[in-house]
Amino acid sequence: MPTISIILPSYNEEENIRRAAERLTAVLRPEGVTWELVFVNDGSKDETWNRIREVAAEDPHVTGVSFSRNFGKEAAIMAGLACAKGDCCVVMDCDLQHPPETVVEMLHKWQEGYEVVEGVKRSRGKESKLHGLMAGSFYKIMSAATKIDMSRASDFKLMDRKAVNAILSLPEKNAFFRALSSWVGFKTATVEFDVRDREAGTSKWSSLSLTRYAFRNISSFSSAPLQFVTAFGIITLLLAVVMGIQTLVKYFSGKAVEGFTTVILLILLIGSMLMLSLGIIGYYLARIYEEMKNRPRYLISEMISSRDA
Ligand code: UDP
Ligand code: MG
Repeated sequence: MPTISIILPSYNEEENIRRAAERLTAVLRPEGVTWELVFVNDGSKDETWNRIREVAAEDPHVTGVSFSRNFGKEAAIMAGLACAKGDCCVVMDCDLQHPPETVVEMLHKWQEGYEVVEGVKRSRGKESKLHGLMAGSFYKIMSAATKIDMSRASDFKLMDRKAVNAILSLPEKNAFFRALSSWVGFKTATVEFDVRDREAGTSKWSSLSLTRYAFRNISSFSSAPLQFVTAFGIITLLLAVVMGIQTLVKYFSGKAVEGFTTVILLILLIGSMLMLSLGIIGYYLARIYEEMKNRPRYLISEMISSRDA
């Protein structure tokens, strides 16, 4: 019998743990598979870890990992994948915005022989206008950077053991899971789902943290901004040549006193471009520095190991 591991990153989700476990058990039981639910407590400040322990004590299918602090959802996903023993792994939110019924659909696709099954959003669920707009532009940039259509992508996906091992073997620390699962390739299918409303609790993302997340992911998949600098440089150079010729012509025809405006404009233009370019380079340097430190993606403080469900 195949084993399927469900990975549920959880951050301050005390009200959702039990509900998620029950709903998933209800849909998986009739499927004739063995399963494990891997809850990853991402340094929650509420009772999430205690809930996970309670549920794990009652149900041998449930295992858990607890981080020493909040390391972020990507780290939680990676930890879950590393602990999972299944022949395939499903990653989903534990707030039940990813419908458990879709897991069964994914499972069927996997049984048909697909190695990666992507959950794509049919609708994005409730969100504010600004949020939608920002998310829209982020996905446009990401799609261009990764050459993969990301506009409906989600973190909800099933991966075969092969794909999981491939992702785990990548050395980078700032992984963007949503894009990596397509980057690894393999035989891929998609399954549509409607983003449900959150069952309890509130979203863990602020606009600021989402913006940071967007920049981080764009730069971890693309060095295009570095190329912008080169492009800017070329444009500035052309401009400088034109201006230079103009200045020389003026000089030789004896009309060189005027032109302060040009000087000021040039200084402003070049100054701003230099600063912008340096900023982008600095950003990448910071990222290189981060990768260089080669710190672990997460630290585990406690673990509930499976009792061979
Ligand atoms: N999450 C996490 N670590 C974090 C933030 C979120 O593990 O630092 C988990 C959270 O518990 C949930 C999932 O990631 O299971 C999605 O988070 P959320 O529902 O807040 O995001 P949204 O659905 O609003 O995009
Ligand atoms: Mg959610």
